[in-house]
Amino acid sequence: MSHPPLSLKKARILVTNDDGIHAPGIKVLERIAKALSDDVWVVAPESEQSAVAHALTTRRPLRINKLGRQRFAVDGTPTDCVLVATHKLIPDRRPDLVLSGVNHGTNIGEDVHYSGTVAAALEGTLLGLRAVALSQARRADGSIDWSAAERHAPGVLRKLATMTWLPDVLINVNFPGVAPSAVTGVRTCRQGRRVDGTGVVDAEDPAGRSYVWIGDFPRDRARGKNTDLTAIAENAISVTPLHVDLTHKRSLKLLDEVFG
Ligand code: MN
Repeated sequence: MSHPPLSLKKARILVTNDDGIHAPGIKVLERIAKALSDDVWVVAPESEQSAVAHALTTRRPLRINKLGRQRFAVDGTPTDCVLVATHKLIPDRRPDLVLSGVNHGTNIGEDVHYSGTVAAALEGTLLGLRAVALSQARRADGSIDWSAAERHAPGVLRKLATMTWLPDVLINVNFPGVAPSAVTGVRTCRQGRRVDGTGVVDAEDPAGRSYVWIGDFPRDRARGKNTDLTAIAENAISVTPLHVDLTHKRSLKLLDEVFG
């Protein structure tokens, strides 16, 4: 079912993330949401859950820690948080909008497959809710400055609220790692793909035993044009619609020819 445009003033907004309820980025997003609406709920993981993707906790119970009237920490994943918030913690009616982030670092290109931030929004989408994932790029020196997201997210969200949202689609928004005044614009674009993949680093522990550590993270050299990767590289805000259905249509035709 598609969603009509949303009046943000009256909207019930669920804020979540994957960096944990104490992360600075969720405080930024909470401030933004509260400036848009009076009915903001925060349900987020108790500890950092970056790169857990769409994991669901099914083999142990979940503990909920109530931190305020509309604020809860859950000792689970971002997906758990959206499910528990919608089914259990938020009474009477479901959220009109799920906002996930603001993540510490971009979620562009193939990141979206690993991202807990995107997965929380995706869970909202699977529940039939409007959902947006928001991420702030680091600066060139690796530090983080939230001011681009802080300044530009309200305008982006107001624009998104005027749109008819199609079913099974979430919106992935990334803010470049520059000062708000240096942002070159808002770019609607497709999900990109990096030239380089994620690496694995070899090292030795203090006892001389070898170990590997995933996280020689790739540079953002992009394949193709007009992608989230190129938008961020050119200091623009990327706005990308992501679809629940991963079916590749052209390959389905090729399969039809082989099997049909
Ligand atoms: Mn994260």
